[in-house]
Amino acid sequence: KKKIAVMTSGGDSPGMNAAVRAVVRTGIHYGCDMFAVYEGYEGLLRGGKYLKQMAWEDVRGWLSEGGTLIGTARSMEFKKREGRKHAAGNLIEQGIDALVVCGGDGSLTGADLFRHEWPSLVEELVKDGRFTEAQVAPYRNLTIVGLVGSIDNDMSGTDSTIGAYSALERICEMVDYIDATAKSHSRAFVVEVMGRHCGWLALMAGIATGADYIFIPERAVPAGKWQQELKDVCQRHRNKGRRNNTVIVAEGALDDELNPITADNVKDVLIDLGLDTKVTILGHVQRGGTAVAHDRWLATLQGVDAVRAVLENTPETPSPLIGTLENKIIRMPLVESVKLTKQVADAIEHKDFDRAIGLRDTEFIE
Ligand code: ATP
Repeated sequence: KKKIAVMTSGGDSPGMNAAVRAVVRTGIHYGCDMFAVYEGYEGLLRGGKYLKQMAWEDVRGWLSEGGTLIGTARSMEFKKREGRKHAAGNLIEQGIDALVVCGGDGSLTGADLFRHEWPSLVEELVKDGRFTEAQVAPYRNLTIVGLVGSIDNDMSGTDSTIGAYSALERICEMVDYIDATAKSHSRAFVVEVMGRHCGWLALMAGIATGADYIFIPERAVPAGKWQQELKDVCQRHRNKGRRNNTVIVAEGALDDELNPITADNVKDVLIDLGLDTKVTILGHVQRGGTAVAHDRWLATLQGVDAVRAVLENTPETPSPLIGTLENKIIRMPLVESVKLTKQVADAIEHKDFDRAIGLRDTEFIE
């Protein structure tokens, strides 16, 4: 009987619970024993009760729950080979050799590395005397399948990540609230949203709320010149009778000399224009709350396919990442997707903004 574990790792995102629910129930449907790893990679390192067998009813009601009920953590120990060896031992002890990881690019990179190292980690565990050759014989390979759980929508090769539309919805709701008070007082508001290397949330929220101006890392504004452009745009809108201004700033926004653009920088410019300006940093409310319908079905369809991918995986197939392309659930090599994602950050670092935009599959940035 196949034993499969599912875990969430890195930053939490709405829809992770729906993904865990889908994986657990699909596994049970196919006759597998299903486990949840609590507390991300920390749980793998601790083993024992952190690897809990899950029954069908254990995930009842999880579709609509925000955050991740099995917990997540950032684990420094898992970044070390010794830590991963210990984690491998804990999995073998429970008879688990397949792992579905729902997390961001860091978590998925770690997962793929774990799979590559697995045969040598197992060898070492035998040498160390933790297991005998006979005990490890059925566990010579580790199957890894990735699901992208991230509010940033920052993974290349997939149209949307689990949690991104929920965070977007929350941001739009908050900006609507802010707009109401801003209009009352004829104020300008600078709203900072999450997204370190990825401007998707800022861009989509800006379009959906009719913001005056949007700052994102991929479309860096000209250093020393953006201030005047921002003033011109806001003034033009005021001249047309607009009573408020909204500027959305992604937390990773930059100018083309790679100077960070902060909400406070933007506020100073608007004050200079004579506008009564306030800053709102949305922070962690963007992650909270229930998952929107899009994230629930995305997590469910992808969770179902993740289990199928585990069952179809062979030692020769590269670790798959379950993605979505043009409304179809697809599988792609996890390493390829991680590589492409890292290239965006590299392109930005090298001031190659056209390439950064080209690497995003989002046409509308143009
Ligand atoms: P988010 O996008 O929300 O930050 P993430 O999955 O990218 O999510 P990280 O903090 O980068 O979040 O990674 C989560 C955990 O994955 C780390 O704490 C670490 O244990 C593991 N991890 C990340 N990168 C690696 C790596 N290169 N090798 C091994 N493990 C890694």
